[in-house]
Amino acid sequence: MTRKISAAGANRRVAARAVRYPSAVDENEAPIIDLRSDAHFMSQALREAHKAFNRGEVPIGAVIVHENRIIARAWNQVETLKDATAHAEMLALTAAQQALGDWRLENCTLYVTKEPCPMCAGAIVHCRPSRVVFGCPDPKGGAAGGWINLLDANPPLNHRCDTLSGVMGEESLRLLQTFFREAREKKKAEKQAGEIIPDT
Ligand SMILES: [Zn+2]
Repeated sequence: MTRKISAAGANRRVAARAVRYPSAVDENEAPIIDLRSDAHFMSQALREAHKAFNRGEVPIGAVIVHENRIIARAWNQVETLKDATAHAEMLALTAAQQALGDWRLENCTLYVTKEPCPMCAGAIVHCRPSRVVFGCPDPKGGAAGGWINLLDANPPLNHRCDTLSGVMGEESLRLLQTFFREAREKKKAEKQAGEIIPDT
């Protein structure tokens, strides 16, 4: 037995579906977000950096992605943990190893908002992620090409990571600049307050 559907009925169904699944957005108005893109994962690392900022830590964040899934998130916690090694990358590497049950982070990508320092770059090489994507470069102390390069073409370290720089680099840098500017202003205000001689 076949059922006839009137044209009006069919249109109503289409209309109902359109309301329920509003996928027909104007692509000129709505940004298209690819949830597997470097920009998306870096935006997640930037969220971690904001957590650090809100807690008075140098705002650097990291996430580690395996098969398009975030398996570790971390923000810099040097002051919180009173641990100079608690950089975002170090904490994310440990969390990712726990998530995978393996110290080898093969087929993983580490996203971090600032170029890794030599300590983190050394740890990255030991953990062997396939890729490292970072936001702003660090010409003074970066170990992914800014100052030195421990991640690429370094035979003694026995692992080479593909690297990509500059993904959401401006946002990452702006957050760091804001943090250090506010820290300087706070220090200056405290110094001035200390210099005021109380009335006797
Ligand atoms: Zn570091």
